[in-house]
Amino acid sequence: MRRIVALSGGIGGARFLRGLRRAAPEADITVIGNTGDDIHLFGLKVCPDLDTVMYTLGGGIHEEQGWGRAGETFAVKEELAAYGVGPEWFGLGDRDFATHIVRTQMLAAGYPLSAVTEALCRRWEPGVRLLPMTDDRVETHVLTDDGDGGRKAIHFQEYWVRLRAEVPAHAIVPVGAEQAKPAPGVLEAIGAADVVLFPPSNPVVSIGTILAVPGMREAIADAGVPVVGLSPVIGGAPVRGMADKVLAAVGVEPTAAAVARHYGSGLLDGWLVDTVDADAVGAVEEDGIRCRAVPLLMTDLDATTEMARAALALAGEVVNP
Ligand code: GDP
Ligand code: CA
Repeated sequence: MRRIVALSGGIGGARFLRGLRRAAPEADITVIGNTGDDIHLFGLKVCPDLDTVMYTLGGGIHEEQGWGRAGETFAVKEELAAYGVGPEWFGLGDRDFATHIVRTQMLAAGYPLSAVTEALCRRWEPGVRLLPMTDDRVETHVLTDDGDGGRKAIHFQEYWVRLRAEVPAHAIVPVGAEQAKPAPGVLEAIGAADVVLFPPSNPVVSIGTILAVPGMREAIADAGVPVVGLSPVIGGAPVRGMADKVLAAVGVEPTAAAVARHYGSGLLDGWLVDTVDADAVGAVEEDGIRCRAVPLLMTDLDATTEMARAALALAGEVVNP
């Protein structure tokens, strides 16, 4: 499996990719990153998931937190607050600000996001080719209650970071996705891939958003290569984050088997569940998706590398049953 394509959100995807890079050091890895979480703050374009992948693979991530820069300071944020300028709920650090300034400057000069991402990655050398899913603007919105008996849509970051996913989510809408085109290189990478991987990223607001770009799902399903995913849900709950809430919003139970069925056998050929979910293997296979139970906790690089190896091995089984 020389050419690997992986879709990715933020933390779950980025950590998995570190293991994948180690499990397949000779491979060309192309990462298609979610941009539905992107947001404009203080006049700057912020791409949380692309940056998490870039910083994690490039050695600049805040390890414990899983997002943002290591050794971060918050002088700019404090100065903005002193002017009464918010939002105060989104924690942009000084080092991180530099990334968004460079990005915004390049976008204003006319470069597409894919070219900007490539330029930022020249510094970080993530060891993979990182492509945004699209150069077009897509923004994930969450339909919540407006407090007056009606409903209102808010930006996903407001739902997740400000409200901590503590308000009911009735629907998840990738605004702009219908008009978006896959970024240059995305369909080519899928067409040339030997395997497509879905890391244990959020199935709705990370992988689901990427798949919502017209042509993406079809390109993956029709690529004629194994498509293998890893469950972000273990023992009936997401390992971290709000996947259970956004899964509920799209009518999917928070179980490893239900997530596999949500992707469907038309898309997925193989699915890894955690060993605690071993009793789900039969149900997933009945749905026409080859399934194995292996440890899926990314506790350290060795464990994560084993997960990547298991995903590639399952892909091999799908090709040579
Ligand atoms: P985000 O954009 O930062 O939310 O990151 P992703 O969408 O890439 O990944 C979020 C998902 O990663 C969540 O649904 C978590 O359940 C999942 N996740 C985080 N850590 C682990 C882990 O160690 N093992 C597994 N299987 N999933 C994990
Ligand atoms: Ca994200």
